[in-house]
Amino acid sequence: MSAPALPGHWHAAAGPVEPGEAVIFDLDGVLADALHRQHFLHQEEPDWPGFYRDVDADGVIEAGRALAAAMRDDVRIVILTGRIDEVAAATREWLVENGMRWDLLVCRPPHEDDSSRHAIDYKREEVARLREWGIDPVLAIDDNRKIVEMYAEFDIPSVYFPSGYYDSSSRYDGGV
Ligand SMILES: [Mg+2]
Repeated sequence: MSAPALPGHWHAAAGPVEPGEAVIFDLDGVLADALHRQHFLHQEEPDWPGFYRDVDADGVIEAGRALAAAMRDDVRIVILTGRIDEVAAATREWLVENGMRWDLLVCRPPHEDDSSRHAIDYKREEVARLREWGIDPVLAIDDNRKIVEMYAEFDIPSVYFPSGYYDSSSRYDGGV
């Protein structure tokens, strides 16, 4: 029997993703420097199309890239991002072009309205799904403190990686 297909919003870097230990990386604010796009969210009504338009122009956060590269060879690198699946192809290209180490990119399913569900709830659900697939996160890294706290529900050690994106007085804290 062949392995079941990955969920549509999961994107493998190459070949099947084998069960086993993984480290979860957030993307924006950890690997990708999305500072130039944050102003689209820091307004009365977040401008999501504006926010996603230039994802390919993001710089690299060197510390994040180095962290991913320095992980043990036998752990999978899962990038769990709140980015919508519509930008998965652009994101994938960006990861490859910038020499990022990754095995699985998880984006927000396409049917979801950005504002319909908080990033925390979306990521919680995906972490549970990863475990169902036998992918066992042993560490998670995120720049959103609330998401860092969420990992405690799963007893997954987590690291707060400060991007500063959540330090403004914006009423919006959904983040990606
Ligand atoms: Mg982030």
